[in-house]
Amino acid sequence: MIYLDYNATTPVDANVLAAMLPYFSEKFGNAASSTHLPGMQAKDAVEIARAQVAQTLHCETQEVIFTSGSTEAINLAIKGVFALYQSKGNHIVTVKTEHKAVLDTCAYLEKKGASVTYLPVDEHGQINLQELETAITEKTILVAIMFANNETGVLHPIADIASIVHRKNSIFFCDATQAVGKIPMEVRSLGIDMLCLSAHKFYGPKGIGALYVSRKNPRVQLEPILHGGGHERGWRSGTLNVPSIVGLGKACSEIKIENALAENHIYLEQRLIELLGDKIRINGAAANRLPNTSNITFPFKAVDFIRHTKNKLSVATGSACTSAQNLPSHVLTAMQLSKEQAEKSIRFSIGKYTTKKELDETIQLIEEVYQLT
Ligand code: PLP
Repeated sequence: MIYLDYNATTPVDANVLAAMLPYFSEKFGNAASSTHLPGMQAKDAVEIARAQVAQTLHCETQEVIFTSGSTEAINLAIKGVFALYQSKGNHIVTVKTEHKAVLDTCAYLEKKGASVTYLPVDEHGQINLQELETAITEKTILVAIMFANNETGVLHPIADIASIVHRKNSIFFCDATQAVGKIPMEVRSLGIDMLCLSAHKFYGPKGIGALYVSRKNPRVQLEPILHGGGHERGWRSGTLNVPSIVGLGKACSEIKIENALAENHIYLEQRLIELLGDKIRINGAAANRLPNTSNITFPFKAVDFIRHTKNKLSVATGSACTSAQNLPSHVLTAMQLSKEQAEKSIRFSIGKYTTKKELDETIQLIEEVYQLT
């Protein structure tokens, strides 16, 4: 089975698993039990992991809050700011191509009195910075724009966005779920005020992630959404998931930004262009993109391709979440693809275990389906 769905999730790295294992039974302490050794051992492990996350993001350890993943971190960031900054304004700016975790949270807040602007994108998935600047008013308390799109890999110009948001005196939250582990991440120099990440996207376990919240320039405050016990400086109550937190920290420390990823990614696209020329469209090709994601519209339906390759290849049609709902991808339709084009689009997302041989076999499968149509 060839796995080319690394944007959906990644396998846990062997070093990450080895680091986690002792914290299930041998070192089982509760990180909040400060009166005995097992508790202190667990707390120490959590703090080492927090430092590893902070090192990856180039921020301070106190700026890292552990969550159950990006969906929770996104909910905490957006709802948490809305609840606390409502006296300043009720306006949020985001983009039509965000992940559903952002879009659905914004839609929920609209029912609670928020006014949300959903910026459009061009055919390459890019926002217009002038439009962003115009959209931000004195009532705008938050701008939520992702680092890298999960379906197309399109990158937004994060430093430029941050400087516009700050010039307009608002807060910038960035969903970096797909970017962490694939490209360098320096929150402070980029000007990001809040950022989320999720371990299972970079060879860590599922169900664990973190929210970075800036403590200076600006010092961002949040209203918690989970109450009870006051863990994580009161922002996220609940007994800490020590083995997973250790796994997240280890996965961060194992991140290597490797050229091989980009080389394989370029190889796949070039071979497909040689094979099918202008019969395919690489979505977001004119934009800066992640070094692992190719979203391609073919002259055949994605479902037919999946049917043909199901037992040999794992790829996605749109994001994992939208494919469960069986709707044409909201990302591709925002990029002005027709419903029919969206239904002919497939996402290939490669990872550190992908080999050239696997890519050659994938290209062979694409050719087979093409010949059948
Ligand atoms: N944001 C983006 C861009 C994603 O790709 C995902 C996962 O697919 C999420 C958020 C949700 O992350 P999690 O699985 O940690 O809840």
